[in-house]
Formats: sequence, C-alpha cells, structure tokens
Amino acid sequence: MAKLVPIPFGLLVTRLFGELERRQTIFDLPARRFFARDPARDYSVEVHGHRASTPLGPAAGPHTQLAQNMVLSWLVGGRVLELKTVQVKDDLVIARPCIDMRTVGFNVEWSQELTLAESLEEYVKGSMLIAMLRASGVAPSAGDTVLDMSVGYDLAGIRSERVGAFLAGMADARGLLDRLRREIPPPFARLRDLDYPTTLSDTLTLSTFHGCPPNEIERICAFLLEEAGLHVVVKLNPTLLGEEELHAILHERLGYRELGVPGPAFAKDARWEEVVGFVERLSARARAAGRGFGVKFTNTLIVENRERFLPASEKEMYLSGPPLHALAIALVRRFRRTFGDAHPISFSGGIDAANFPDAAALGLRPVTVCTDLLKPGGYGRASRYFGELQSRMKAVSATDLETFGLLAYGKAEEALLALALPEETALSCRRALREGSDLRAAAGPAFSRWVSEARLRGTEAYVDRVLENPRYAASHNAVPPKKVGSRLKLFDCLTCDKCIPVCPNDANFTLAVRGGDIPVERLVPTEAGFALERSGVLVLKQPRQIANQADACNDCGNCDVMCPEDGGPYLLKPRFFGSVEALLASPALDGMAFERKGSLLAMHARFEGRLFVVESGGESLRYRGEGFEVSLDLKDPAGTASGRAEGPVDLTWLRIMERVREALVREGPVSYVGAALA
Ligand code: SF4
Ligand code: SF4
Repeated sequence: MAKLVPIPFGLLVTRLFGELERRQTIFDLPARRFFARDPARDYSVEVHGHRASTPLGPAAGPHTQLAQNMVLSWLVGGRVLELKTVQVKDDLVIARPCIDMRTVGFNVEWSQELTLAESLEEYVKGSMLIAMLRASGVAPSAGDTVLDMSVGYDLAGIRSERVGAFLAGMADARGLLDRLRREIPPPFARLRDLDYPTTLSDTLTLSTFHGCPPNEIERICAFLLEEAGLHVVVKLNPTLLGEEELHAILHERLGYRELGVPGPAFAKDARWEEVVGFVERLSARARAAGRGFGVKFTNTLIVENRERFLPASEKEMYLSGPPLHALAIALVRRFRRTFGDAHPISFSGGIDAANFPDAAALGLRPVTVCTDLLKPGGYGRASRYFGELQSRMKAVSATDLETFGLLAYGKAEEALLALALPEETALSCRRALREGSDLRAAAGPAFSRWVSEARLRGTEAYVDRVLENPRYAASHNAVPPKKVGSRLKLFDCLTCDKCIPVCPNDANFTLAVRGGDIPVERLVPTEAGFALERSGVLVLKQPRQIANQADACNDCGNCDVMCPEDGGPYLLKPRFFGSVEALLASPALDGMAFERKGSLLAMHARFEGRLFVVESGGESLRYRGEGFEVSLDLKDPAGTASGRAEGPVDLTWLRIMERVREALVREGPVSYVGAALA
C-alpha cells in the first residue's frame, strides 16, 4: 500500500485553475455540477451563531480528509464542512480495503490517516483554495461556509499537547497561511495577497469511540466548551435506541436480519437516561460559557463483519446508508419528544437526493452526507439534492428553509393551534396560509415558535413515512454494482469513467495516451552494435486511459467496487507517484514518477518489479535499467543506439513511458502529475 501523501499546495493551485481553463472541470468535477444559488430561495441556516449558505455538508470522513476533497465538497454546495476526525494517535495503520459500498455501506475507516500536523495543513490549504475560488468568481454568490472540526476519541487524547496544538492552529492559522501564501506559484501571485480566514473554526463535533462511557463524553464536552472555548456537538450512537427498538426497526421492519449487532455494544454505549442527563447539564454549561451545544444523530452502527469483503482482521465494521437513515431519524424523533426543538441537531445517516429536502425541512443542521457521495457520480450527486430541495420548496411556495419547515408536511394549522396565540395573530397566520402570503410577517415574533411546532409534527410524520418506505428496506438495497466478468489490464478498459468521481480523493484520472500499435521489441547487443527483435504489438484502442495518483490513493477500494471490470483500477492501472522518493519507498508497487534535472526530465518507472529510468530533453533518449544504459532515438532504435547492455533491452516499457510522458505534457495541468510537469 502506498502512503497517503498530501498534494503540494502549489500543484493544487496550478491544477485547479489550469484544469478549469482547459476542461471546465475542477479536480474532475464538471462545472455543470457546481452549486449555483437559486436567487429566489434562501437555503441558509444558522450553525452556532455562524451563517452557512446551505445546511449541506460532507460528514467527517473520506470527503474532508484532503484539501482537494474540501474543495469538491464545497463546489457541490457543501457549506458546513465537517472535517475528518483527528486524534492524538495519528500513526495508526487502517486495514484495507476500508470501504464497502456494494450495498448499503460499511466501513472500517474510523480514523485519520494523516498526522495532526498534516491534517491541520490540509484544512488550511482547503480553506485557502475555497477563498481563491470565491475571489476568482468561479462560484458567484458562493455565500458563507462554516468549517466544523471533529476530534476524537478520549479526554486524555483531546487534552494532549498535540491535539491542543491542532486546535490552536485552527483558531489562529496565520503562521501556516503565511508559509502557504509563499507556495502559490508565480503565475498566480495575485492570489498571495487575498484576505484568507485566519480563524478556521470555532465549532467542533465530538466523535467518541463506540463504547465510550457517558461520564467521559460529558467531561470531554465540558473541557471543549469551557477550556477550549468551542461550540460543541456530540455525536451519539444508534445503540441509544436500545436493543429492542433497534432490533424492531433494523431487523423486523426493514428486514436486515443478517446484520448482527454485538450485544455488548448496547451495554457499553450511553443509555437514553444518561444522555438526557448530560444534554441538560451540558446545555446549561454551554449557556454559561456563551457557547452553543447540540447533538448529532448519528454515528455509524457497529455490526459484526460477516461479509468478509472488508479484512477479516476487523471483527466489527460500521454500517451507514439507508438503514442508518431510519435509525437516525427515529432517534431525532425520540430526542424531540423529550426536548422539543430546544437543541440544535446535526444529522448524518443515509442522506441522499430524495431525503435531503426532508432533513432540511425538519430543521436539522448541518445535514451531513458520506455514503451517497461514494456511489457512482461521487460528489456530483449533490447537485440533485438541491434540485430536489428547490422543487419541494417551489411546490409549497417556500422561499426559505423555516417557511419550508412550516409547510413541508401540511402541519402549519395544527402547529398554530399548539401555540395558543392571541386571536388576532392566529387569524392573520391563517389568512397568510390561505392566501400564500408572508407567514413570517403574519406571525411576527411567534414565527420561530410556529416553525418549531411544525418541525416537531413534521418529524413524527416523516419518521412514520421512512419506516414504511421500501427504499430503506433490505430488499431494496441488496443488489451490488454489476460486474461484466472481464479483468482490467494496464491499458484499455470499458472507459465508463465510474472510477473517477467515486474516488473521494480524486486519485483516479484520465490520460489521453496516443492510441495505436506499440511494438513489443527488444534491443539485442551484437558484435557490431545493436539489432532489433520484434515479437508482436501492444494495441491501445481507447482514446483515453485511466491512471491513478498513488499519493492521493489510500487503497480504500471504492473504485474497485464500482468498476464493472475486475481487479481494481487503483491496483492495475498506470500509477503515478508524486516523487521518485515515494516510488522507491513502495517497492511492491509498479508505478512512475518524474524528476527535473535542469533542462532534462527524468522519468522513473517500475514495471513488473523492475526499475527503469528514461531521460529526455537532450539530443537522444537516455534509457537505463538493471544491466543496461543506452542512448537512442526511438525512430530508429537499432541504428542510433549506443551504450552498454549485458543482455537484450526491452524497449516496450520505454515506448510506453514515452507515450505517457507525451500525453501528460500535451494535456498540461489537468492532473496532479500534469500540473507538476507544467
Ligand atoms: S477502470 Fe473500470 S471504472 Fe474505470 S473507466 Fe475503466 S472500466 Fe470504468
Ligand atoms: S483510487 Fe480507488 S482505492 Fe484509491 S482512494 Fe480512490 S477510490 Fe479509494
């Protein structure tokens, strides 16, 4: 497995603007998928005193680990970015593959793969790239964005000096910003002086281990609120429903009978009464500290790893997707039955285009998503979320999310009765409902209470609908993506491009390698010099090839699952490393890397375990590998070759390297490796 290596900032900037100009895409996301605000509708929400232009955001996870992921999440309309969870143990090795999206969604990817320092730098880089996009007018009227930190997993780790340094860096990023400004390449020097945010975040979603004792959760939250001075949301587990209700929903109602939830999970996790207790106490402490406090429904559900797709070393895995939606929304209902609409609820669990408008109408904020963005189409799937939201809001003539919450489930009249408003105000509200006029103006100061009452009733109605809806049932989510039975090779495939957007890190990309025949030939040393031996041809049929940027690939396996062919694009397609050091540090992996040496460009490659280097830019190519070092012109290899060879020299690899290099140089900065060569 290659190590995840953040892409240098200068390369990200070069690629971002170069790719947009040449292809009208950014990190392979087409401009037509960029979020565009509907001037007739306000999707904004308040998150701990900050305004976010939409309630949508990627959940802490694969979509917020790297700077380019943050940009992609933002481009599709994410305005509350829950950054990948960091913790003091930042040198863990996560089992691979770690994501199984064949059906509902499972993972064993529970922790960051970057160090704390690298994570901080990625978040600053991402925030700067977003500021650049805003300033460049790429996303007009982009509105406001909130970055939400996520830390784990216990008090000792969160209080540690190293996590403290991370939090301090997020609160004041000036040092890092200044260094990164200097890394902006000269063609983009105008961007060095932009007014980048120096305080990246003052809100945090706490992620605790499955099984974290409730008193530990409370102590961590108190520390974060009172000593770290942050607004806090605590993410709770679906086991909070209790064994009986969880079983009734997951197994009985939805039919996921094969999913085993380990019994001890219920005993170890916080129970309902405990959570009610600490929510009350922590809310009071937050008020006293002038901070916000909320809850998040829900963390993933721990289940037994019986599928054997994820490594057998992992006895448990984490469930997400449609069944989690049902469990999470059932918890929202239970929480609201206890607390009304008094506490902010962040939501995560099987969000997709069909249910995003409901989560928005119910006043959940942010509405975070992960699983759906790992399905075909990737980040671009979010453009449908806003299409659906827009049409649902239009259908009830709502122009903002509060009004939408009031009208979405037809509960406005009923909610009005519960308010016991003065007769005149109630009449005015009824008239406004009847005539479709301004409900906010009609209700005056009672508007937000009216919305809350409607949300509570809407929650009841929505949960009933979800539990009846076959789209959340096991029978509806049992079919894995289709495989066609062929195996991937280095070049050519169905070229369906599915593997590109499904990668959260944008590690897969296309490369227009010149097609046609590549002679399979060897240069054979003779007494007189060299002779050429040809044994066939390699034919490249497709105009575009799939390639993989190893540094950005964490072997999660998602592109393998979504590829109709077998073998895994990230394993079998041409692989590029960001540096020769990275190539040499992964001796088990074939791949290529470039190195500039003055006017010469050296391309290093490992094919079938053997290392080759070709230097171009001089009068002839210099090609070397184990037992040979020759100079030659590929137009006439035998006639021009000179140098040393202990045996036949395979020229096929050289021709492949040359075609790949040509393609990268011709295409320019539309990939990370192309940006490095630009
Ligand atoms: S590698 Fe697989 S997913 Fe990617 S383009 Fe080829 S066939 Fe499609
Ligand atoms: S290239 Fe494939 S395996 Fe690698 S990170 Fe992307 S989706 Fe995962």
